[in-house]
Amino acid sequence: MTAPLDNDLLAEILMTAWEYGFHLQTVTTEMQRHLDALIAEGLIADAGGHLYGGAGDEARARKRYAELRGVRSCARCHCADDWACDGGCWWAAPDLCSRCVQETA
Ligand SMILES: [Zn+2]
Ligand SMILES: [Zn+2]
Repeated sequence: MTAPLDNDLLAEILMTAWEYGFHLQTVTTEMQRHLDALIAEGLIADAGGHLYGGAGDEARARKRYAELRGVRSCARCHCADDWACDGGCWWAAPDLCSRCVQETA
């Protein structure tokens, strides 16, 4: 059982870790448990308290982000409004971003 707020925060950490790297300061036991789960799933990596993406699959991380936030994500690459493809993209179809439409065309 997790509160919606926790999911939002977790989603934020997940995205920040991938986009910028995230330095952990104080985390609650509850949050640490969530982070450990993300690390165990290979969605983020932990280098002595510095969280980052890179090691895992970004599409998978984005999919989780969209699930946590409850926002729509691209059916193919799982980018979302807040976490677009590198170089930017837009919705070319209800469930496909401009990048993926180009690649499948
Ligand atoms: Zn896409
Ligand atoms: Zn995209």
